[in-house]
Amino acid sequence: MNSPDTLLDISIVIPLYNEEESLNELYNRLSQVLDGLGKTYEIIFIDDGSTDSSYEILGQLYDQTYNVKIYQFRKNYGKSAALSHGFSMARGEIVITMDADLQDDPKEIPALISKIESGYDLVSGWKKKRYDPFIKKHSSKLFNWTTRVVSGLHIHDMNCGLKAYRKSVIKSVSIYGQLHRFIPMLAHWQGFNVGELEVQHHPRKYGKTKFGPSRFAAGIFDLLTITFLNRFNKRPLHLFGSIGLLNLLAGSAISIYLAFYWIFIKSSLSNRPILFLGILLIIVGVQFISIGLLGEMITKSSHPEIEYSIKNSLE
Ligand code: UDP
Ligand code: MG
Repeated sequence: MNSPDTLLDISIVIPLYNEEESLNELYNRLSQVLDGLGKTYEIIFIDDGSTDSSYEILGQLYDQTYNVKIYQFRKNYGKSAALSHGFSMARGEIVITMDADLQDDPKEIPALISKIESGYDLVSGWKKKRYDPFIKKHSSKLFNWTTRVVSGLHIHDMNCGLKAYRKSVIKSVSIYGQLHRFIPMLAHWQGFNVGELEVQHHPRKYGKTKFGPSRFAAGIFDLLTITFLNRFNKRPLHLFGSIGLLNLLAGSAISIYLAFYWIFIKSSLSNRPILFLGILLIIVGVQFISIGLLGEMITKSSHPEIEYSIKNSLE
């Protein structure tokens, strides 16, 4: 293995969970492609708490080769955690992530690298023709559409395992929870140049998918969290205050109307159910504004985070 400080051209980061059947074939196909590039590289496997013989197989690979690194999690922490650890260990100028199940094709790597070299900071694979079950294909389409609308980033396939990053991207975008699928969006918001490349996808050859249908709901919640944290974290009053103000205005309009009615028409309000709506809207409005103000107080007293991303510096 190279010394820990040497910089390499390429790091391949592969999270895996119970993929024993695929690993040898994956390594062989990968090293064939990478050896042909004439660049220095490492392959980082993160065993996300596998309970099959994945780790033993990786151990044999480690003994037989010189450019493989292996990390084993104590338990299954999820793909994001695995990617995150892989990123922090990677020493390559370009970091490429891929799945371990042979659904992503190592043959796409040279094209990803040239696209990065042509000026992109992040290139996301686009499985134009997908080999996944019907429900997954279509829920993923809906998810991608929603994400495009929310993020303003027009790429087709956020969730593709095959992506290439310049080192600067992974050093400045932090991921947590199941948020790995939003890295392109976070990078875009930070001003990085994000592109996509059509890639070949294959059906799963061995084993089965590690994500159930709950993934879709999780994806939507994550989208909400990430949008909120990134867009309004520094100014919660803008979000809660505007909702509150709308409610308050509507409630006040109703109450003013009823007040005129009561004063000039001199009729009782006891038969006007809209009175309750007016009161409700005012209370809800005041509450939203108060939540926004509380949020502002919390933001101001918490530690300031870096709000910008530096591209170059000449000192
Ligand atoms: N994976 C992981 N930890 C998990 C679930 C999945 O490291 O908790 C890995 C898995 O082994 C594979 C990749 O993430 O290499 C993508 O998972 P999978 O193929 O099950 O997802 P799908 O292709 O169905 O989207
Ligand atoms: Mg897969």
